[in-house]
Amino acid sequence: MSRLYIARVQREAIQAYGGACACCGVTERRFLAIDHVGGYIEEDSPRSGYAFWLWLRRQNYPAGYRVLCHNCNHAIRFGEDCPHLLARKELQSA
Ligand SMILES: [Zn+2]
Ligand SMILES: [Zn+2]
Repeated sequence: MSRLYIARVQREAIQAYGGACACCGVTERRFLAIDHVGGYIEEDSPRSGYAFWLWLRRQNYPAGYRVLCHNCNHAIRFGEDCPHLLARKELQSA
């Protein structure tokens, strides 16, 4: 399995889910990951990485996933709102 092939599978998965962070809009592939909306379902799919991207492709990119950058992904991992979202809320209420 070549490095190039792995990068291509990842790029394809990210493109299939919009190609940018669903929160902040970052498009740099190396910052991006696929996030399961509402948390991972352990038995359903591989959790992350190459096996996960291949799995998504085999499932024809099912609904319920989205692209998030690593910053946003980390920010919301314990169920909190991303600081980006809080900042946008403040702007709207100002
Ligand atoms: Zn982001
Ligand atoms: Zn964010």
